[in-house]
Amino acid sequence: MTKTNKQLELDKLKNQIIDQNVCPELANNATNLVFGSGNIDTKICFIGEAPGKNEDIQGLPFVGASGKFLNEMLEAINLSRDQVYITNIVKYRPPDNRDPLLQEKAIFMPFLNKQIEIINPKLIVTLGRHSMNCFFPELTISVVHGKLQKIGDRFFLPLFHPAAALYNGLLKKTLISDFQQIPSILNTI
Ligand code: URA
Repeated sequence: MTKTNKQLELDKLKNQIIDQNVCPELANNATNLVFGSGNIDTKICFIGEAPGKNEDIQGLPFVGASGKFLNEMLEAINLSRDQVYITNIVKYRPPDNRDPLLQEKAIFMPFLNKQIEIINPKLIVTLGRHSMNCFFPELTISVVHGKLQKIGDRFFLPLFHPAAALYNGLLKKTLISDFQQIPSILNTI
């Protein structure tokens, strides 16, 4: 698909979420839909959990403290945000930043799957257990973090969530080290 057609399809998908009012419980309390941002012609897509306060205000994913940390890890492997695509499973902020409910994740999964199909990245990096478990319900993040997985032709790298790692020195070290595998993975897949 050409980049222009990808953009048209993504715009259509975003409008479906709004027009179908898919998750009124979250939408009614949110300022903005946080659909995703970055390069739609990328090989690598990052998927987080749900928008937080800053993301809700700006309508963009990962722009708060965990986004700053994500940017630093990207810079460390010579990638900028405009080279990658970043989104979340759930596209509206859950109240008080609570974990997204099973039902909320289920509502947004068909839209996320379509978003992935349109962008068609080679590698999906899941950030945190919620994101990983949407694709691999049987896996445990503490066991498989940094270990490449595959569904069909697509590779998945499960990583710890930057927000969890920010306040835990050991987790932070592990996340940074897992993250550094990304360039070699991109070279080999
Ligand atoms: N945490 C997430 O999972 N996603 C965001 O966009 C921001 C914080």
